[in-house]
Amino acid sequence: MDEQETELPPHVLIIPYPAQGHVNPMLKLAELLCHGGIHVTFIVTDYIHGRLLRHSTIVQSHLASYSGFRFEIISDGLPKDDPRSGDKVGELFRSFRVTAKPLLRELLRSDPVRDSDSGRKRISCIIADGAMSIATDVGEEIGIPVIFFRTTSACYFWAFFCGPKLIESGEIPFQGNDMDVPIKSIPGTDGFLRRRDLPSYYRVSDVADQNLQAIMSETLQTTRARGMIINTFDELEGPILAEARLQCPQIYTVGPLHAHLKVRLTSKVTSNSLWEEDMTCMTWLDVQPAKSVIYVSFGSITMMTNDQVMEFWHGLVNSGKRFLWVIRPDSVIGKDWEKHLSTEILKGTKERGCIVGWAPQEEVLVHKSIGGFLTHSGWNSTLESIVAGVPMICWPYFGDQQINSRFVGEVWKLGLDMKDTCDRVIIEKTVRDLMDGKGEEFQESSDQMAKLAKKAITEGGSSYCNLDCLIRDIRLMV
Ligand code: UDP
Repeated sequence: MDEQETELPPHVLIIPYPAQGHVNPMLKLAELLCHGGIHVTFIVTDYIHGRLLRHSTIVQSHLASYSGFRFEIISDGLPKDDPRSGDKVGELFRSFRVTAKPLLRELLRSDPVRDSDSGRKRISCIIADGAMSIATDVGEEIGIPVIFFRTTSACYFWAFFCGPKLIESGEIPFQGNDMDVPIKSIPGTDGFLRRRDLPSYYRVSDVADQNLQAIMSETLQTTRARGMIINTFDELEGPILAEARLQCPQIYTVGPLHAHLKVRLTSKVTSNSLWEEDMTCMTWLDVQPAKSVIYVSFGSITMMTNDQVMEFWHGLVNSGKRFLWVIRPDSVIGKDWEKHLSTEILKGTKERGCIVGWAPQEEVLVHKSIGGFLTHSGWNSTLESIVAGVPMICWPYFGDQQINSRFVGEVWKLGLDMKDTCDRVIIEKTVRDLMDGKGEEFQESSDQMAKLAKKAITEGGSSYCNLDCLIRDIRLMV
């Protein structure tokens, strides 16, 4: 290393899994690191990069203002016109792993040469998505330390880390159809976790299932890394983190990242959406009474059938509550579903509803008119709701959402878990229960949790201190 290079800040390579729920918090971490004086190269697929340039204001405004930030664009290996839809997550996962590994190796091998005149140090640390263990293969080969970044909850990570125990004890695969059987082999979850609350990948008849094996194997690689960053906070997932810390290397809990970024930057943080945000819903919200609207959104991947959309539509209208509903244009399997709606339902929608293709979710959740969130329990959505102090109804679709929703309903008491049902009568009743019946109780616990989240990211708080430790440790890796 020459003298000139020694004076430069450390340089980190960040590699997210190419989907909205992963890119979103990893870009936020990238910005926090840049703000902390670290140079960042952020690997992004051409598909995601194109969408970010089209729809994300954070990329154009904030990130471009850091001289130490740059994108490195690679392919995800899928054809250009592939819709990369939510029902093909496995395909993207396999294709990206295979394509990214040699590109990553090439990038790191050529790094010292390419960067000698670029005003950047050689990359001294890789921060890789927890689903990208290929980074540890390449990091070990080249001699660069890796820190994993889990964009999901600690409880999801832990449920997979304990996968071998679940299999050894015979709890997986499930014997019989009873989904309410308690789970015993995940320390820290005794007494409240049932089969139906396990991550959906455990719902298999054969433990050799490709997706289950892939995720379990990725998770077990965690111990190979120098550390693990989790977008959570100690006050939220304390008991699970205590168990995980006994087994895993250094864990940095730095979340909720979206709120943490706002605190550190003190300027207005804008979005990093992959879809165009329809701002008309904000004007609609402005004229609704305080806490009267239930916000309904199932994230960026969830796919729904015609029948499920119809059940939700009837349930929402029949609840008599105002609703703001995000229906992503690519999220419904089937065509012409709107044609089957009765005049009564259309009338109720016009009177009390607003439907958009994609919303500025963080802004929506903190709007004074929002009184509840009907969510798929994606981890980013859950954290955004927690910070905004909005009680939830959970309708998990897949992955981590089944376990997140159990924690929301049973452990944190922040709302109601409606998993494994999709019936208009239950939806109507659950919406009423959240907005009226048990509303006050949930609002109280949501307010308390929001306070804890804010404390964690304020100077001296757990996540605030952990981010400082992370930056210090990255500096020591040079
Ligand atoms: N989101 C948004 N507008 C929408 C729906 C979702 O900005 O209309 C954002 C949301 O704020 C969150 C992300 O998309 O940050 C979804 O991530 P999450 O982990 O909740 O679910 P996933 O999409 O990964 O299933």
